[in-house]
Amino acid sequence: MKTLIHPQVDNGIPATAANFAGGSLQCKCVNNPVEVTIASQTAHNHVCGCSKCWKPQGALFAQIAVVSKDKVSVTANADKLEIVDEAAAIQRHACKECGTHMYGRIENTGHPFYGLDFVHTELSSQQGWSAPEFAAFVSSIIESGTAPEAMADVRQTLKDLGLPPYDCLSPALMDAIATHVAANK
Ligand SMILES: [Zn+2]
Ligand SMILES: [Zn+2]
Repeated sequence: MKTLIHPQVDNGIPATAANFAGGSLQCKCVNNPVEVTIASQTAHNHVCGCSKCWKPQGALFAQIAVVSKDKVSVTANADKLEIVDEAAAIQRHACKECGTHMYGRIENTGHPFYGLDFVHTELSSQQGWSAPEFAAFVSSIIESGTAPEAMADVRQTLKDLGLPPYDCLSPALMDAIATHVAANK
């Protein structure tokens, strides 16, 4: 049986389009969906196994990318948004009706990723967003119910898809965090 990771990567990963300049994301509501407009290409797209990122029904991983927060604006039905957990480092703004997370924002100016918003580009009908590059927090899917014995298959599937599996973030992002910590010592 094929191990399914996420609908955006299971059948091959759509390529990043050159000169892609952004688009809009819609929540899953049939009526009056929340719309978030992103005025640039995204970066560091990846699948994430943590228990906090929003996933579509049935997906083992979330798919998420980052973008400068000044490029993100809520352009329709902002009144339907609420913050999932005010205490979390990343404040995930979700639709109250369908539960879809529309963007995650860091309010702590001392956080290594302050200034970047986290967005699920699968919520866009446009093609050409930055392609997923790696898998983060892979071991964490056990916390959401995956059997430990299934992990070898999951990691192999990720490798076959071209998504190197990490149990934290990618080396590039871990280096960015450590550089930030070092600079603030
Ligand atoms: Zn909704
Ligand atoms: Zn996550």
